[in-house]
Amino acid sequence: MRPYLLLTPGPLTTSETVKEAMMSDWCTWDEDYNLGIVEVIRKELVKLASSRPEEYTAVLMQGSGSFCVESVLGTVVRPEDHLLVAANGAYGKRMGVIADYYRINCSVMKFEETQQVDPKQIDQYLNEHPEVTHVSVVHCETTTGVLNPLEEVAEVVKRHGKVFIVDAMSSFGGVPIDMAKLGIDFMISSANKCIQGVPGFGFIIARRSLLEQCKGVARSLSLDLYDQWETMEKGHGKWRFTSPTHVVRAFMQALKELEAEGGIEARYARYCENHRTLVEGMRALGYKTLLPDEEQSPVITSFYYPSADFDFKDFYQQLKAKGFVIYPGKISQADTFRIGNIGDVYPADFLRLIEAVKEVRQN
Ligand SMILES: *Cc1c(COP(=O)(O)O)cnc(C)c1O
Repeated sequence: MRPYLLLTPGPLTTSETVKEAMMSDWCTWDEDYNLGIVEVIRKELVKLASSRPEEYTAVLMQGSGSFCVESVLGTVVRPEDHLLVAANGAYGKRMGVIADYYRINCSVMKFEETQQVDPKQIDQYLNEHPEVTHVSVVHCETTTGVLNPLEEVAEVVKRHGKVFIVDAMSSFGGVPIDMAKLGIDFMISSANKCIQGVPGFGFIIARRSLLEQCKGVARSLSLDLYDQWETMEKGHGKWRFTSPTHVVRAFMQALKELEAEGGIEARYARYCENHRTLVEGMRALGYKTLLPDEEQSPVITSFYYPSADFDFKDFYQQLKAKGFVIYPGKISQADTFRIGNIGDVYPADFLRLIEAVKEVRQN
């Protein structure tokens, strides 16, 4: 079932048991599914995300991660509000694009893709722009792998009393985050990243008191986060429209495996070890990382092309033949490729990868 390992930011390598969980068919109206699985997942997600679970609620939403980001912005930011997006990569910029589609008043504060967003500049902007009501930021910018300083940004946003929205798509489940402690109001992630499920839905963990005020704000039916939440809440796990039953089953299994591993702290430690093994090995072979170590997440790592005549396509094909699928780069300022550290992959896999990279170079 595994022709090669996906060393990618998601969909990623999942366990055999997560894949096996998809092997039976489920009825969306049956209690086994709604109460037995969907409600259990919602409660568990809130517990994983917040030290004060009673203040938060979880909503599952069909589609990929971007659908969920869109559902939050389109349901939470009203026509009279003003959104500030701090962006240092493609996913931050995408939030600005969503805001444009919805004609949301929005300012995008752009940072270099190779730098973290700067809490001081956000602070200054909020001092000068009292019209801002909501601030959004990406936690781990998967574009490069940079980890933004979430605690410092949260401190600024909360001091100014703004609603705080975090795209934690590629970090939640793999990097510890406490929404209650940081004052995060809406956090978005998806099934096929650090929880190690398969693609098909995403989820939003929301401050209950704020989501309750969002009835009738959405400009999209399918992506109405409030309506989706109300139906799930009142219907004890019912989705409004066809739910991805098999994917949800796989996700439940993935959550059990996260717990068996020792929770988010233990998974974070494994990802850090994967990352360390990868970077040490690649540096020993002469590869250089795009980012300084202090800004780097353990989620995905960007490497410069080793030479001007480096043929990524050939490198990629050779590694694939040896059992490893890596990822192209996504930035314009430099030629890079990316290697993901997340999924059902372990330090030993990265030691094998380094051996494979060594062999590719000798060809
Ligand atoms: C994966 C990802 C998304 C969502 O991308 P989709 O292709 O819609 O699943 C959004 N933000 C970040 C930071 C991501 O890594």
